[in-house]
Amino acid sequence: MKVAIAGAGAMGSRFGFMLHEAGEDVILIDEWQEHIDAIRENGLHVEKDGVSYQVDIPIFQPKEVTETKDLIIMFTKSMYLENMLQNIAEIIGPKTKILCLLNGVGHESILQQYVPPENIIMGVTILTSKLTGPGKISFAGGGLTEIQNFVEQEDAKNSTLEIVSVLQRAGLDVEYSEDVMYSIWRKACVNGAMNATCALLDCNLAELESVQPSEAIIRSIVREFVDVAKDRGTVLDEDEIVEYIITSSKAVGHHYPSMHQDLVQNHRLTEIDFLNGAVARMAKEQQKEAPVNTLITQLVHAKEELLQAK
Ligand code: NAD
Repeated sequence: MKVAIAGAGAMGSRFGFMLHEAGEDVILIDEWQEHIDAIRENGLHVEKDGVSYQVDIPIFQPKEVTETKDLIIMFTKSMYLENMLQNIAEIIGPKTKILCLLNGVGHESILQQYVPPENIIMGVTILTSKLTGPGKISFAGGGLTEIQNFVEQEDAKNSTLEIVSVLQRAGLDVEYSEDVMYSIWRKACVNGAMNATCALLDCNLAELESVQPSEAIIRSIVREFVDVAKDRGTVLDEDEIVEYIITSSKAVGHHYPSMHQDLVQNHRLTEIDFLNGAVARMAKEQQKEAPVNTLITQLVHAKEELLQAK
């Protein structure tokens, strides 16, 4: 199977590395020239569970790749998904499957503009990875990745099951889900409640959990996610999610969520429009209001401007 990883940062390089080590025909695609140069000169440097690897893995600028792929795994940040799809249009053939593992919701409406719906595979992963410099990533532990066809069709499902096998052979814990949108929305609720809040309050998960209004803030955000998801056919349990967020924040402790790391620590643009912003937008489409998530989105965009995030 010819595989391309579109967006070879922290997560894309992790998946690319695992597939490469399993002997798959995989290439990385990225636009970050310093990263490309480092990998071409010294290989991809991987710290996996404390052990170092240096692997020769092909990496290209989007426009340098012309050969159609069987599978493309999208791993840009959400706000760059569309630009990446435009730049790799040449390698998306009529049978190319596109697997989307980005955090957040609403990616399917962008994907459908570039890929026939039967070739779209939606997914969600609890794996993590860190980019530690150009050409360098670090990760530890494992975790489940769930994937499912965007539209259910018998032959499309068979080829996705083949993809599941390829990923499993690479040591990735991947499952064909019967309701991936539920898992995608549930993770988006967790990220939507914690990411922006910690970025705006400049605090870590344990600090957020320790303040008196914590549960009320989380519940107000989650309630609007649950409402919008229901309109789109996904039923979530508000109480279960709020309780899960509070318990897991206590367990994780002094960890700064990715939006804090991106925006506050590194002045990078955020995926807010695919988390709280997506809920605000989807509510509007249903002639409803989502005032909490609308305000949070505006505050995060304001902070991006103040910090001149790029
Ligand atoms: P990242 O910023 O480390 O990597 C994204 C890569 O995409 C970068 O190297 C960037 O140069 C490249 N890119 C962006 N736009 C491009 C374009 N138009 N053309 C070519 N290259 C382009 O991001 P990440 O942390 O790997 O996250 C990717 C996605 O996975 C996000 O949606 C994130 O929320 C999700 N995710 C991340 C983690 C994690 O632990 N890092 C865990 C689960 C899910």
